[in-house]
Amino acid sequence: MVGLSDLPLRDDLRGKKPYGAPMDPVTYALNVNENTHPVPPAVREAIVKKIAQSLETINRYPDREFTALREALARYASRSHRQEALDASMVWAANGSNEVIQQVLQAFGGQGRSVLGFPPSYSMHPIIAESTGTTWSVGSRESDFSLTPAGVESAIRLTSPDVVFLCAPNNPTGTPVSLETIEAAYDATDGMVMVDEAYVEFHPEGSPTASELLPGRERLLISRTMSKAFAFAGARVGYLLADPAAIDALRLVRLPYHLSGITQAAALGALEHADVMLAMVDDIRLQRDRLLRELPKLGFTVCESQANFVLFGGIENPQKLFTDLLEHDILIRDVGIDHHLRVTAGTEEEISFFLETLGRLSR
Ligand SMILES: *Cc1c(COP(=O)(O)O)cnc(C)c1O
Repeated sequence: MVGLSDLPLRDDLRGKKPYGAPMDPVTYALNVNENTHPVPPAVREAIVKKIAQSLETINRYPDREFTALREALARYASRSHRQEALDASMVWAANGSNEVIQQVLQAFGGQGRSVLGFPPSYSMHPIIAESTGTTWSVGSRESDFSLTPAGVESAIRLTSPDVVFLCAPNNPTGTPVSLETIEAAYDATDGMVMVDEAYVEFHPEGSPTASELLPGRERLLISRTMSKAFAFAGARVGYLLADPAAIDALRLVRLPYHLSGITQAAALGALEHADVMLAMVDDIRLQRDRLLRELPKLGFTVCESQANFVLFGGIENPQKLFTDLLEHDILIRDVGIDHHLRVTAGTEEEISFFLETLGRLSR
């Protein structure tokens, strides 16, 4: 059998592991922070119509600048933005925010450059750093997983990164990041600061987002996604808010026509029904708060969360609990933090089943 080691692979990729969230077929999939509510049939029909329209010109390459989609995303992002509306020149998109993040490192990282992250955080950040040849540096968090302006500043001084990644709220801990911390990071570096706001829609109502810091900060990038609150993970659409100059940098590294006509049409259809797509966010927040309330009653510790998942601890043997839950048709996530597991806030029924099962197992 031929293995990877037999191929002339790049030296820096030897021995690396691919991203590998398990994809076991289970009834209760609470492991990758999707919105577990399916897209309502009326919106699915509207999306099908859009896709059908796009097929009329599918013999041609799609709009390379995906102008209509950038305009729709700008309108959508402006809803939660408490300042002057964002316009399309400040919006970029790609096949999932993972691709956006990859483009950011292709443009601003790469050989001889470094990116600073604060683990435990999103597992794809170091993987994308590796695949783009960018050195991965780490700073530390407080014991409750939070970040402080002083802590972030000192990590930046120590490592002099070309790019800083902040995940707000942080995956897998759920921890919020204050605007003061983001500002402190920006002021401490001459490099790019990327705030990964994949879970921004789950913030408490009316709380600020990093987009408010954009005016006058051309090195600030904010990545978002339609994969989580927007219930559109399978369509693969992520986007970025930034100064138009930073977006010009991404045009240098994107592949031509990277967003297919079908993807653009589907995303436009979904964005036209943003209110319906987001209708379940309030319920998901309730289920998250229910997890935060109920897990301690079962003897677990929980981390403050502003996302659609909860990291819970005090688990003697996480691998065993993970497997026991899997035997009961529930898939959650072992994120590799000692004595902890992470669970996605799903539907009321899913969380009831999860809590009941967990209660029986831990007793
Ligand atoms: C889920 C997630 C993403 C989303 O990735 P997509 O490629 O848009 O599906 C990005 N960042 C974080 C922190 C995530 O948890």
